[in-house]
Amino acid sequence: MPRLSHLPTYSRRINGPGPAVGTGMEKIVRTDAGWRDHLAPEEYRVLRQAGTEAPWTGEYTDTKTVGVYRCRACGAELFRSAEKFESHCGWPSFYQPSSGDAVTLTEDRTLGMVRSEVRCARCDSHLGHVFEGEGYDIPTDQRWCINSVSLTLEPAES
Ligand SMILES: [Zn+2]
Repeated sequence: MPRLSHLPTYSRRINGPGPAVGTGMEKIVRTDAGWRDHLAPEEYRVLRQAGTEAPWTGEYTDTKTVGVYRCRACGAELFRSAEKFESHCGWPSFYQPSSGDAVTLTEDRTLGMVRSEVRCARCDSHLGHVFEGEGYDIPTDQRWCINSVSLTLEPAES
């Protein structure tokens, strides 16, 4: 069994408080068991238990294919290839999301750090973290560091 199995279930992620309402977006809500059925084990670990895939192992780390990156859990559009950049950090990195409404940010104080956790606004699944002020040559100075397993690339029609 994965070592996370002894941790309490994350009921707050099922019952709220959840992201702000009023955007008109239809929220996707499943029980924890429902997510387990819907996702592969590694997807479930990252998306629903806020896990992190090992660096340089994700399928989209160096991908340059033109297209849209959707939430692996619910299919919502999250990022676009046009805003993906080479961060050399081991995970797919974007300098901004597709839209501000696509994601939510929460403070994450695990691992002795204060980080901003990025979640899908539609289904509240964990995507990764956002870091600011690192000096990358990008328009926003923000590195949206996202797990490949949280994403599905939909290549543009050519
Ligand atoms: Zn989602």
